[in-house]
Amino acid sequence: MRSTDIIVIGAGAAGLMCAMTAAARGRRVLLIDHANKPGKKILMSGGGRCNFTNLYTEPSNFLSQNPHFCKSALARYTQWDFIELVSKHAVPYHEKKLGQLFCDNKSSDILGLLLSECEQTGVELRMDTSVQQIDKTEGGYQLQTSLGTLACASLVVATGGLSIPTLGATGFGYQIARQFGHSVLPTRAGLVPFTITDQLKELCGELSGTSVDALVSCNDSSFRENILFTHRGLSGPAILQISSFWQPGDSVEINLLPDHDALGWLQQQQSERPNSELKTLLGEVFTKKMANLLAEQWFVSKPMKQYTPGELAAVAEQLGNWTLVPAGTEGYRTAEVTLGGVDTREVSSKTMESLKSPGLYFVGEVLDVSGHLGGFNFQWAWASGYAAAQFA
Ligand SMILES: Cc1cc2nc3c(=O)[nH]c(=O)nc-3n(C[C@H](O)[C@H](O)[C@H](O)COP(=O)(O)OP(=O)(O)OC[C@H]3O[C@@H](n4cnc5c(N)ncnc54)[C@H](O)[C@@H]3O)c2cc1C
Repeated sequence: MRSTDIIVIGAGAAGLMCAMTAAARGRRVLLIDHANKPGKKILMSGGGRCNFTNLYTEPSNFLSQNPHFCKSALARYTQWDFIELVSKHAVPYHEKKLGQLFCDNKSSDILGLLLSECEQTGVELRMDTSVQQIDKTEGGYQLQTSLGTLACASLVVATGGLSIPTLGATGFGYQIARQFGHSVLPTRAGLVPFTITDQLKELCGELSGTSVDALVSCNDSSFRENILFTHRGLSGPAILQISSFWQPGDSVEINLLPDHDALGWLQQQQSERPNSELKTLLGEVFTKKMANLLAEQWFVSKPMKQYTPGELAAVAEQLGNWTLVPAGTEGYRTAEVTLGGVDTREVSSKTMESLKSPGLYFVGEVLDVSGHLGGFNFQWAWASGYAAAQFA
C-alpha cells in the first residue's frame, strides 16, 4: 500500500492549484484523475483562450445558498495573485471587456503553467486512475484505485460538477460528500443556452447567428450584454448569465432597446419621421433581417404616423419588455457550470475542510459556489484550491 500526505482527486483547475500549492509547502501530493489528460475544461474554456480571471472579482459575482462562504478564500487568493502567477510564467494576456482576462494565445498557456508548477514542486500526477472505494482510517483515508490501495492523511475532492460529461465530468464528488455525511444541494445547469419550443422557435431559427445588445432580466437579476439567436433558442453572454437565475417555468424579460426608453423613442420617431415605416427605423437599430422579421412577425409595419398611441405602446412593450418562457436549457451537455452541489454550511470557509469528516476537503465547482460568466469560476477554483492547500 502506498501512503502519502495528500491525495487530490481531480486534475482540473482547482485540483491542480491545490496540488501545486500544497507541494510547494513541502507536502507529498498525489494528484489523480480518471480522464486521460488533465485540465480538459481549461483547454476548452473561453473559446480556446481561457478567461482565467476577472479584474473585478467580488463575492457578489457568485451564487450560493450560503453567499458569505466564498468571501474568505477569495480574499486570501485574489485575481491579482493569479495575475502574478500568469506574469511569472510570461503568459501574454489581455482584458477583453468587463475585466475579463483572456490569454492572447491559447488556453494551453494556463494549463501549461499549472503543470509546470506541479512538476517543479514535485506533485505526482497520475491520469487514467479511477477510484472504486474510499474508507476513513485512523490516520486519514484509504482509497481502492486502479493504481492499487492508496493511503493519505488528507483527501481533497476536486472533481468538479456535472457540466459536460464528455470532458470527464461525473457526480463522484457528490457521492463522496454523501458518503461522509454531507448534504448535497440540488444541482442544475448554469451558464447555459435556453431552448425555445413554442412559436418563437421559428423566429429564433430564422435569426440564428444574429447577436444583439440587450438587457435581460429574470427573478430580480439583470444583465446587459449580447444575446444570440440560435436554431434551438437563445444564447449569448446575457442569456448565459441569466440562465443561472432561471428555474423551469419562470419568464425572462428582454429589453431589445436597452439604450432607450422604448415608448419615448418611438414617440420621438413618430413626431420627427412620421412617414418612415417602423421596419425602416428598426433596421437602423437591428440588422435589416431582424428588423424585417420583427416587423412581419410581431407588428404590422406601416408609416409611423399611422400608429395610434395604443399601438405604439404595444410596440414599445414588445421591444422594451419582450417576455418569454424558455422551454428549458441545453442542460449539462453544454453548461459552463453546475449550480448547487456540496452544501457549504458543512465545510470550513477558511480551510475548505469538511466539518463532518476531518482531513476531507472540497474545492472548486463541486461546492455550492458558482460564478457569473467572465472568469469568476476559474477564480473560485484557484482561490478555493489555494485555501485548502494551506491546511491539507
Ligand atoms: C466549455 C466551458 C468553458 C468555460 N469557460 C470558462 C472561462 O473562460 N472562465 C471561467 O472562469 N470558467 C469557465 N468555465 C467554467 C470552469 O471551467 C469551471 O468552473 C472549472 O473548470 C471548475 O474547476 P474544477 O477544478 O472544480 O472542476 P473541473 O475543471 O471540471 O475538473 C474536475 C476534474 O475532476 C475529474 N474527475 C471527475 N470525476 C472524476 C472521478 N470520478 N474520478 C477521478 N477524476 C474525476 C475530471 O476529469 C476533471 O479533470 C467553462 C466551462 C466550460 C464547460
